[in-house]
Amino acid sequence: MTSSPPLAPDKPCPICGKPSLEKFRPFCSRRCGDIDLNRWLTGLYAIPVAETDDDPERPRPQDPEAE
Ligand SMILES: [Zn+2]
Repeated sequence: MTSSPPLAPDKPCPICGKPSLEKFRPFCSRRCGDIDLNRWLTGLYAIPVAETDDDPERPRPQDPEAE
């Protein structure tokens, strides 16, 4: 019997490219996991906010140069 192959190679950490640790897969460390999570959350909340000036419930400033 030949020597069994090593464990299936893990993909490198998507954040820094280091070999990922099983404990933190797919990342190499919790830090990288946090970074990715932050990116993910940031992207999630990075929804373009429609800054509408046409809100009917808000009175528009009459004259911005009144003061
Ligand atoms: Zn990493």
